[in-house]
Amino acid sequence: MNNSNDFTCDDARPLVPAYLDGELSADRASPLRQHLMECADCRTRTQAHKAQRQWFASTPEVSVPEGFAARVARRAFQGDIGEAPQTTETLAPVLPFVLKMTAAAAGLLLVLSGVIRAVDIPTGGELRADDEATMSLEEALDRLEVLDGREARTPEGLVR
Ligand SMILES: [Zn+2]
Repeated sequence: MNNSNDFTCDDARPLVPAYLDGELSADRASPLRQHLMECADCRTRTQAHKAQRQWFASTPEVSVPEGFAARVARRAFQGDIGEAPQTTETLAPVLPFVLKMTAAAAGLLLVLSGVIRAVDIPTGGELRADDEATMSLEEALDRLEVLDGREARTPEGLVR
């Protein structure tokens, strides 16, 4: 491989960690240093090793509170998306409310599509168009009522 003291890559690599720690005696470090000057491959590996070591050394210890992962998982399952701090008590009525608003938005879309169709229809078909719009509104209300039956009652202020 090289011409200095039969010092090969296989000799060099096991010594690199101790060399970086300054633990090699001078008579062992000097052939390694010599090898690193001649061998780009080992030099690159040593640099990489050094960088990796600094990476780990510069990472401060992070202490995670006991049960942290379990608490995060539990809150995630409860629908907490990490915005405002919410307790289980305040979260419970919010979820049905969100579902209701989603259903209301879907119902509104249904009504709007009915209205748009009514506008599109020529003057001759006005009665039929009105019926369609009414049907859509009733469908939307039906959906809200189905949801009401499924979900727990929310406080009066939230319902309408
Ligand atoms: Zn080498």
